[in-house]
Amino acid sequence: MHEHTLIVGGGVIGLLTAYNLAAHGGHVTLIDRSAMGQESSWAGGGIVSPLYPWRYSPAVTALAHWSQDFYPQLGERLAAATGIDPEVHTTGLYWLDLDDEAQALAWAERNRRPLSAVDISAAYDAVPALGGGYKRAIYMAGVANVRNPRLVKSLKAALQAMPNVTLREHCEVGGFLRDGDRVVGVRTAEGDVRSDQVVLTAGAWSGELLQTLGIGLPVEPVKGQMILFKCEADFLPTMVLAKGRYAIPRRDGHILVGSTLEHAGFDKTPTLDALESLKLSAIELLPALADATPVKHWAGLRPGSPEGIPFIGPLERHPGLWLNCGHYRNGLVLAPASCELLTDLLVGRPPVMDAGLYAPDARLGLV
Ligand SMILES: Cc1cc2nc3c(=O)[nH]c(=O)nc-3n(C[C@H](O)[C@H](O)[C@H](O)COP(=O)(O)OP(=O)(O)OC[C@H]3O[C@@H](n4cnc5c(N)ncnc54)[C@H](O)[C@@H]3O)c2cc1C
Repeated sequence: MHEHTLIVGGGVIGLLTAYNLAAHGGHVTLIDRSAMGQESSWAGGGIVSPLYPWRYSPAVTALAHWSQDFYPQLGERLAAATGIDPEVHTTGLYWLDLDDEAQALAWAERNRRPLSAVDISAAYDAVPALGGGYKRAIYMAGVANVRNPRLVKSLKAALQAMPNVTLREHCEVGGFLRDGDRVVGVRTAEGDVRSDQVVLTAGAWSGELLQTLGIGLPVEPVKGQMILFKCEADFLPTMVLAKGRYAIPRRDGHILVGSTLEHAGFDKTPTLDALESLKLSAIELLPALADATPVKHWAGLRPGSPEGIPFIGPLERHPGLWLNCGHYRNGLVLAPASCELLTDLLVGRPPVMDAGLYAPDARLGLV
């Protein structure tokens, strides 16, 4: 194990990579240009499943399944260690009037997931607030959502309590320090920081940073907007999804409705158009929300990548540089497995799953 690992980007991926590595030993420095966990990892919905899991490749499925099993213990461990409960809330999820229901059911059978077609009356019994007119439903038991702003807060608190971790906030990384091809640290607005290895976990901004080494990484910002309501705690007992829009209940009655998918560069200004469109979706899903005013509206930038498969592993061209980025719509669900896998590779343990599926060199045509 190297002595000092520097991690660039303190979203859920950087925070959890730091947590895993620090638990193994060695010194870890995590740098963010803002406060930790204020970008996509704050803005997301926190569903602990891809929205349409059957539409993804086995590479995403493998990470998702490992992580789903792990989330409850991660939540408990963080709550016990920090007093900040990430609220892993297991509610199940109804998909309504899907076009590819047959594919979903076939996928569930192949992957042994608890997803099945149910009579639409069962969906209305389970979710009395559901809007009228839906004809078909499938339901997956056991799907949870995590209160992601609390998850990142709790991870940050856990790291602050570890003596071998340094957190540097409001410190922008501008590029990499090199000794020949080897990466030996980063350049920051506050001076150079040297390390034995560098891990790039800068979410949607990872491509920009890697470009400073002349490497084109296909990770691009995909804007997502979301609105939040506050209802009675029992208003929505499960997550519901129709026509690409979903409602997520938190334990205290907050309901998130999302999301848009926009290619708008790095602009994350919330727009009136999206607000109106999300409100319409909210009312169609849950008509009682017509009488409610959203308590918040925001946008975040997902780290979009080809097929939503993250880049996890070393870059042979630049020894000392490692990637863990490009989690697109699923960074919260995929985080535990991605960060476990990267830690395995960094410390030389047998990897928790086949690392080849995510290896940057092969996917970037660098070998
Ligand atoms: C509306 C919306 C809904 C979503 N819903 C879900 C969901 O339900 N389930 C799910 O699993 N996922 C969801 N996601 C996706 C998920 O949020 C992301 O995949 C995940 O948060 C990515 O984590 P990250 O750590 O890679 O990136 P981020 O959280 O964006 O973190 C990257 C960090 O890098 C820092 N950084 C960038 N450049 C620099 C630099 N030059 N120097 C220093 N620091 C830098 C940033 O400040 C930031 O803190 C959603 C996303 C959005 C926007």
